[in-house]
Amino acid sequence: DPDVLVAGEALVDFLPDRSGPLQDVEMFSRRAGGAPANVAIALARLDERPWFLSNLSTDAFGEFLADTLAAERIPERFLTRDEEHRTTLAFVSHDANADRNFEFYRTATADQHIDPSVVKDDALRTISWVVLGGVAFANEPTRTRLLDFAERAHEHGCTIVLDPNRRPELWPDAATYERVLSKVLTFTDICKVSDEDLVSTRFDYESPDALLDAGPHTVVSTCGADGARVVASEDAPWGPAEYDHGGYAVEPTDTTGAGDAFLAGVLYGLANGEPLDETLAFANAVAALTTTEQGAIAALPDREAVAAFRDRSEKGGRNS
Ligand code: ATP
Repeated sequence: DPDVLVAGEALVDFLPDRSGPLQDVEMFSRRAGGAPANVAIALARLDERPWFLSNLSTDAFGEFLADTLAAERIPERFLTRDEEHRTTLAFVSHDANADRNFEFYRTATADQHIDPSVVKDDALRTISWVVLGGVAFANEPTRTRLLDFAERAHEHGCTIVLDPNRRPELWPDAATYERVLSKVLTFTDICKVSDEDLVSTRFDYESPDALLDAGPHTVVSTCGADGARVVASEDAPWGPAEYDHGGYAVEPTDTTGAGDAFLAGVLYGLANGEPLDETLAFANAVAALTTTEQGAIAALPDREAVAAFRDRSEKGGRNS
């Protein structure tokens, strides 16, 4: 049985066929998305098949998500199906700086009705790693249920991994985000943030190191093409540490889901007992490879592809 459980939203992203404002886009490509779904699929590709705790609508898009997850051999055990609520849709557009904007259709959707009570205590006892996505905490009833679940998993000795994945437009207001996230952080062992999360957040956590005072013993931060950094306090099972890895040179096509692939790489390394510095390098390689094709999951590599890519890069790349 899987040792890792990923919890949070699965949704459908519609990617535009051109850059420019959403109102001018005529054609979109349908892609499975939602950060936790991306992480679950990335782990499955690495042969570290996780449980996925989520709630999928029975509408056409929910069927598409269920098919996508099944094709990746993600077990259905903690995937509930919902006839009352629709699938969240996210329409993507690119502004002049090529930054992505999301327009969410997410009123009373299935992903706001995740039910962690399907994960009983006896199941939790067999799980070592619980990965939580921040968006799932944005609305009730999932917020309260997942907070309870995080606490229960923490009490069972699971290592809690959080990606805050800050999307201000999905939260009622900034104060709620801060309050809820501070609470989640008290149960969190490992927090993964991107540069953007840190810059845009109104927390006092202006640096990855400052986050260590909020609960986590380990903070991993990504910085796009420049790779990633990890800091760990003396409370970490691997002891205090600080590493940087400058990333791998690729020609990116689309960075959607790079952060999610990165997080899957981190989990893969840690769950397999790899040291932190090796884990960081591995995660950067997984993430770099996923930027080479459109969409979050199209270019997700398996272990052999990561190994071959690192071999090539370390011989001729900038990490040599
Ligand atoms: P997203 O929101 O798109 O999932 P993010 O903002 O969470 O991404 P980034 O910091 O942009 O995360 O990227 C995550 C990781 O992906 C980086 O740490 C790096 O390993 C890899 N990566 C991203 N962009 C590039 C790039 N242009 N070249 C090589 N690697 C990249």
